[in-house]
Amino acid sequence: MSQSLITMSYLAATILFILSLSGLSHQETARRGNYYGMIGMAIAIIATTLTLNGTVNAYVVLILALLIGGAIGAVAALKVEMTQMPELVAIMHSLVGMAAVLVGYANFMETGSPLVGAEKTIHELEIYIGILIGAVTFSGSVIAFGKLSGKINGKPLLIPLRHWLNLGLLIFVIGLGQVFLEQTETGGGLYPLLIMTFIALIFGVHMVMAIGGADMPVVVSMLNSYSGWAAAATGFMLSNDLLIVTGALVGSSGAILSYIMCRAMNRNFISVIAGGFGTGTGEAAAVEGEVYPIDAEETAQLLLAAKNIMIIPGYGMAVAQAQHTVNEITKLLREKGKKVRFGIHPVAGRMPGHMNVLLAEAKVPYDIVYEMDEINEDFPNVDVTIVIGANDIVNPSALDDPNSPIAGMPVLECWKGGATVALKRSMASGYAGVGNPLFVLENTRMLFGDANETMQAVLKALQG
Ligand code: NDP
Repeated sequence: MSQSLITMSYLAATILFILSLSGLSHQETARRGNYYGMIGMAIAIIATTLTLNGTVNAYVVLILALLIGGAIGAVAALKVEMTQMPELVAIMHSLVGMAAVLVGYANFMETGSPLVGAEKTIHELEIYIGILIGAVTFSGSVIAFGKLSGKINGKPLLIPLRHWLNLGLLIFVIGLGQVFLEQTETGGGLYPLLIMTFIALIFGVHMVMAIGGADMPVVVSMLNSYSGWAAAATGFMLSNDLLIVTGALVGSSGAILSYIMCRAMNRNFISVIAGGFGTGTGEAAAVEGEVYPIDAEETAQLLLAAKNIMIIPGYGMAVAQAQHTVNEITKLLREKGKKVRFGIHPVAGRMPGHMNVLLAEAKVPYDIVYEMDEINEDFPNVDVTIVIGANDIVNPSALDDPNSPIAGMPVLECWKGGATVALKRSMASGYAGVGNPLFVLENTRMLFGDANETMQAVLKALQG
């Protein structure tokens, strides 16, 4: 394949990736954005494969790898439940990190490199940094996978003097880099590289283990960003412009997303990364008070009497897969002339945009779906709020208990409206593990049971 054709293909793929990212930023265009990304990736893989000039054997190995990897990806995508998506994303990030580490070692061990002088030093630095970012991404993502899937306790692990420990490790890794560069002059360097890899792996584990409470959303988007930088570093090692650009796109968009998540949660980015946020200084206040249960029939009556209705979906809606029933109820209420809107908290569910994806899947009209900032002021005008499997994102203690693990996080202030009906199976806490005083307020009613079953019962009652 001629060089100019390759450059053209890389350019086309880059443009498609940018279009894909911009498409993914709106629900209406997200599907199109996905298609752009898929076409871009297909062009990128074909163009890169054709640059290889390898032997027939090399192509056979490549095609086999593509088939095996593609088959594993397809099976995972088909089998994975919507509620397991965040874990899948985390484990995918770990693979990008692992790839960067492996490519780094392969590059390091390749003896036939024609590079000399400054170029050689730069290349070795690329290898060192690429492996460093890759190893942190790999181990951090594995721990994030464990935490999101509940295999590892979500509570933060706070080692004494952890910030000093992190700083010490960083300085040591920089010093080790110097030793690595010196040793590569004489054909060595493997030991400093291995020690650095080990430290980077430990650092990744420590970094994510120290993050607790409700701060995991930032970690998920931050690891997304790291995986992009790891890919960009791999691009530098392989002198592949497209991989550099693609990695930088993922890295910077992930960093922006992390920033948005931090702002949404009223958190300081550096403090979250340094760990130990979401722990509070004292004991969070215990929740005491009377619980007022309600049944589906009564909930339907409340809805029929209301004019202005807000629906707040949370992680439990994803677990119950209640979005389709919720859409049916929404349609029916709107047909009856009610104003029905959805309030979406930026960290609802277990991944950025989780609720928007579910509502889009159920074909809820986009123009009645609002971000928290757009509707929070409007709760005093709301007659009835239905909270479907949400807990932390509607917890008033985030605003008035400084010892709460979620203290300072803005929440959907539904208690300022008329009545609130909360759908969940029990009085159990949510992801952050804190009690929720909303559930014992006088104008809150608890509709216990699986959210899909209870919503279906409400739908039936509404249909009369
Ligand atoms: P929560 O985890 O706070 O609460 C979900 C609630 O849903 C639980 O209390 C549970 O109560 C209920 N539930 C579970 N299954 C069902 C079911 N089948 N039917 C009815 N109810 C059910 O979720 P929120 O969405 O309110 O908040 C998200 C939390 O997750 C935040 O703390 C956020 O920081 C964190 N997080 C978010 C990420 C993101 O990127 N969005 C990533 C990682 C973490 P019960 O057991 O009683 O039914």
